[in-house]
Amino acid sequence: MPQYKVAIVGAGPAGYFATLALNNLQTEELKFSIDMIERLPTPWGLVRSGVAPDHPKIKTVAKVFEKVANEPNFRLFANVELGSDLTIEQLKDMYDAVVIATGSALGKRLGIPGEDMPGSMSAAAFVPWYNSHPDFKDEEIDLSCDTAVVIGAGNVAMDVARMLALEPSELDPTDTADHAIDAFKESAIRNVVISARRGPEHAAFTSPELRELPKLEHTIVIIEKSDIAAALSRVGDAPEKDVKSNLDAMLLIAEQEPTNHARTMKFQFLATPVEIKGANRVEEVVFKKTGTDETFSIKCGLVITAIGYEAAPLEGIPYEKGKVVNVEGRVKENIYVVGWAKRGPSGVIGTNKSDAADVMKLLVEDLKAPKNAGDVAEIIAHNKVVTQMHWQAINEAEIAAGEPVGKPRRKAVTREELFKHAGL
Ligand code: NAP
Repeated sequence: MPQYKVAIVGAGPAGYFATLALNNLQTEELKFSIDMIERLPTPWGLVRSGVAPDHPKIKTVAKVFEKVANEPNFRLFANVELGSDLTIEQLKDMYDAVVIATGSALGKRLGIPGEDMPGSMSAAAFVPWYNSHPDFKDEEIDLSCDTAVVIGAGNVAMDVARMLALEPSELDPTDTADHAIDAFKESAIRNVVISARRGPEHAAFTSPELRELPKLEHTIVIIEKSDIAAALSRVGDAPEKDVKSNLDAMLLIAEQEPTNHARTMKFQFLATPVEIKGANRVEEVVFKKTGTDETFSIKCGLVITAIGYEAAPLEGIPYEKGKVVNVEGRVKENIYVVGWAKRGPSGVIGTNKSDAADVMKLLVEDLKAPKNAGDVAEIIAHNKVVTQMHWQAINEAEIAAGEPVGKPRRKAVTREELFKHAGL
């Protein structure tokens, strides 16, 4: 029976859904053995380091990941980096197919003056900082100001704004990094402005996320009714279903009775950022009222941009416009791409399931005779490979550490701590 070897690079949702899809395509005549290669010492990608810690339900998809990871045809090679520990050429030669599932890790830039000033950062650093990503634990985030501005009108901007605006004790029963909870408890930020360059009808938020905002117990969420009324008149009688649902959710917020909480999260629309100003660090953001020449500014000490992501390039893989160059997931001979690296940073985690399934069908169509060309385990030169067994030890240790303090887990932050949990 032909047994094919597939390498999946990247242990995030797209990588696991590709594994699941390959398993589902197996028959009596067609079997796969799957090796997943991950740069970090931990798998799960955005489910670990992206999803907001106050959204634990979204993380339950990890059960699906662990199910495929515990099949006998699966091996995890985490803490193994493509480029330094292995090359794409080696993988290409050893495996019948290589699937790139490395996502989009780089935050897009606004390209305006002042963007690199201290006090201005991307959600691509802020989000992994509060989620215990080892590469971002030392980010310097000054929360000593009164006002923060979050630029972007997508769900990442909403996550970031919510994390800054909520009462930090609400994070105690979550798996937020301890260093972030401590910093949020010290934070002087009381006003968070979430700023969209277009109108409410064009916002990329999704309505379930908007509908949960009124549940914040200690934060006033402010949307101007006049902004929604103007958007409703612009969209006319037959708006698209998603737009209507978003506007309805925003109207509910706009119509809420005001409360006297000390923390506010305010939505601002039709504001195009043109400059970030300050003597040595951020002091204000200058906006243009979109479509006009009129400018106004907001005094603030922190600006976080959440305006989308781009894929970080991998040596030997063609890139264009922040994505791997591909045709329906085919990159070049025996190399495929799935997830955000393929189609850009859009959709929810589940979107990657059908996306990966479509690409894996093409991969199967393209298969030739199995290669049987050596084992990747023999060419990784260091002895700190985190296998599925090691990861399970980390996972169990983190869950056990969370239990006495009422958290789903207490994540290890440094590589040393992770290796210690792993027994490496
Ligand atoms: P997104 O949904 O594409 O939103 C990006 C936002 O940035 C848009 O509002 C866009 O406005 C704005 N933007 C882009 N360039 C800009 C610029 N130069 N100046 C000002 N604004 C700019 O991206 P995302 O928020 O990073 O989310 C990525 C994906 O993950 C989305 O599919 C999202 O739904 C998903 N996600 C889901 C959840 C959840 O389900 N809870 C949580 C987080 C993320 P324009 O429309 O005007 O370009």
